[in-house]
Amino acid sequence: MALIELKVPDIGGSENVDIIDVNVKVGDSVAVDDTLITLETDKATMDVPAEQAGVVKEIKVAVGDKISEGGVIVVIEVAAAAESTSAVTAAQTEAAPKTEAAPIPAAANFSGAAEAEYDVVVLGGGPGGYSAAFAAADQGLKTAIIERYATLGGVCLNVGCIPSKALLHNAAVMDEVKHLAANGIKFAEPEIDIDMLRGYKEKVIGKLTTGLAGMAKARKVDVIRGNAQFISANHFEVTETTGTGKDETANKKVVAFKNAIIAAGSRVTQLPFIPQDPRIVDSTGALELKAVPEKMLIIGGGIIGLEMGTVYSTLGARLDVVEMMDGLMQGADRDLVKVWQKMNEYRFDNIMLNTKTVGVEAKEDGIYVTFEGAKAPTEPQRYDLVLVAAGRQPNGLLIGADKAGVAVTERGFINVDKTQRTNVPHIYAIGDIVGQPMLAHKAVHEGHVAAENCAGHKAFFDARVIPGVAYTDPEVAWVGVTEEIAKRDGIKITKSVFPWAASGRAIANGRDEGFTKLIFDAETGLIIGGGIVGTHAGDMIGEICLAIEMGCDAEDIGKTIHPHPTLGESIGMAAEVALGVCTDLPPMRKK
Ligand code: FAD
Repeated sequence: MALIELKVPDIGGSENVDIIDVNVKVGDSVAVDDTLITLETDKATMDVPAEQAGVVKEIKVAVGDKISEGGVIVVIEVAAAAESTSAVTAAQTEAAPKTEAAPIPAAANFSGAAEAEYDVVVLGGGPGGYSAAFAAADQGLKTAIIERYATLGGVCLNVGCIPSKALLHNAAVMDEVKHLAANGIKFAEPEIDIDMLRGYKEKVIGKLTTGLAGMAKARKVDVIRGNAQFISANHFEVTETTGTGKDETANKKVVAFKNAIIAAGSRVTQLPFIPQDPRIVDSTGALELKAVPEKMLIIGGGIIGLEMGTVYSTLGARLDVVEMMDGLMQGADRDLVKVWQKMNEYRFDNIMLNTKTVGVEAKEDGIYVTFEGAKAPTEPQRYDLVLVAAGRQPNGLLIGADKAGVAVTERGFINVDKTQRTNVPHIYAIGDIVGQPMLAHKAVHEGHVAAENCAGHKAFFDARVIPGVAYTDPEVAWVGVTEEIAKRDGIKITKSVFPWAASGRAIANGRDEGFTKLIFDAETGLIIGGGIVGTHAGDMIGEICLAIEMGCDAEDIGKTIHPHPTLGESIGMAAEVALGVCTDLPPMRKK
């Protein structure tokens, strides 16, 4: 048992807010998400839920007090298991950038007529937006999505997750076929028809986006084509767009809403010193796959850059990568990344860590790039293609949010509470626009929470962990507390590793370079994190996510019968390693 202070979370930058109700008393048992106190700002009334379950031992506030973010509400006694849960949550929260202060603007008035009115209007048709809209419609709400492009799906389906994976799949098969030569199966050198490959990618996108359009229709969700701007706290003005892009026509209409869900996503971060040139592309340009360059530079050694680099390298390009930090694929533990790096070294001529790009010049014979830092070559380097993958920035400042009274940070993020509400109670925000990690599965989860709240239910974003995956070859996947986070935050952990060199399936596949690692809270024995490097790691990490959410220990995982022979059983075996009972490895000292 331990005493823990429950504090006021981020409340959109409001300070000295009135407490109008205290909903608990000493001795009460509170569950996660039970309301502790109710606050009232000049804009909204909001319940502050308990982030942890426990028994209330002391109440630090009273009705009529004023409180700000970080103010202590109650002291609760929690069981040991709950303490470890908070280590996971704390680590996850720590991993994301802190929410920044955002001034609250005064909303504009609009007294004109609207062409249509909805219970819920979702701004943006990406994975967050369409999931929210479909969930709202499933709750019986009259719902519309406003999207400026011709298809639903947003970045993920059109120029992100899906097209990149369609190309990566082809690259992975090409690489695998090469490996077969060592087993006595030789194929001739591949002939690459880049137009057909691009066509395949487009077909995949088309299938999914057409499916989404059908699902919207089946749910009677109106899809309004155009560029939306708030004009009040209850109205959007939509300027019609046309063609496949976002070219505007002169047609405008006003759409009214009872609730709005902002799902306007993010865009590529532009580096100011980079000139316009068709040989310099962002991820969207790289996915267009116009040609395979001889020599390619990737600016930014994160997941997006490395995934695209994998595709181009398998198709024949030589790669350089430049990264300001001291390692590629930040966020993942170094032992996982090391395995990927060893397997992929052959793709790179130069991996420039702790190095910055300081100049880019477009010349007739190529793009010349100058670097500064630990691994910077002395002379500018020439490239046929430069991929700028230096991050993405949220679209919060581009939607007229101030007209609705919605606060947006200087960088364009919109702060939300655990119900996904912005500082304006009937306006929610989800996905990339609310913060890191900018991942589709996070956006979808948030979308569902927002939709349920629009329907009058009490829903919270209370997922303990959000997994990250690099779909490189091998794949690298991780979730929850990493060893790096544990070290940084002084979380006491034990770890267990099952090397794939002992996995029958990995050996049979000829891909036994990987390993599966589980991370446990040293005191409670509960799983709080994990990482996998190897083929299909991304498909397997979900089991570790579930184990964390369910509060499993090594025995729960190790005594779950996993099918044999699979890569997935490496998770069960890693748990057996933790218990000292793994019979697929040499004898271990029993713990
Ligand atoms: P978005 O997908 O950005 O959608 C926002 C939508 O809003 C867009 O369609 C936009 O046109 C529309 N919009 C914006 N402003 C307006 C306006 N004013 N009026 C009308 N419409 C507007 N994530 C993963 O989880 N897994 C992956 O493998 C993965 N791979 C990726 C690969 C690449 C190359 C990239 C770039 C991203 C990848 N991501 C991946 C990230 C993922 O795509 C995003 O996290 C996800 O798309 C965010 O969803 P969203 O709904 O918040 O916003």
